[in-house]
Amino acid sequence: MATAKKQSAPAPASTVDLQETRCTCGCGETTPARSRFRPGHDQRLKGQLARAHYVAAEVAVVQPDGQQQRLPAVDAARLLDTDRFSWSAKLSTNRRRPSEQSQEQSA
Ligand SMILES: [Zn+2]
Repeated sequence: MATAKKQSAPAPASTVDLQETRCTCGCGETTPARSRFRPGHDQRLKGQLARAHYVAAEVAVVQPDGQQQRLPAVDAARLLDTDRFSWSAKLSTNRRRPSEQSQEQSA
């Protein structure tokens, strides 16, 4: 990829924390097993990623092994995709569908 000059963005707009037992939104709180988010925090992260995507900002991603990297919001969202909810598709379409109000939760 070409190294285009970017607008200086000192701090990443948001953090995606993929470590087990950590809330994925990057708030640093712990989650019970099988949960990726504290209640409501998935919505919060969706908003943050949408905003980061909108301004073309990078997102800090904490890998399960604790290593950090910075990725474009769409790439970070792709890491969160599940069979039942596509975070990346949500970003790339960026359309609001009233029928999609339900939260992502494990059954
Ligand atoms: Zn959180």
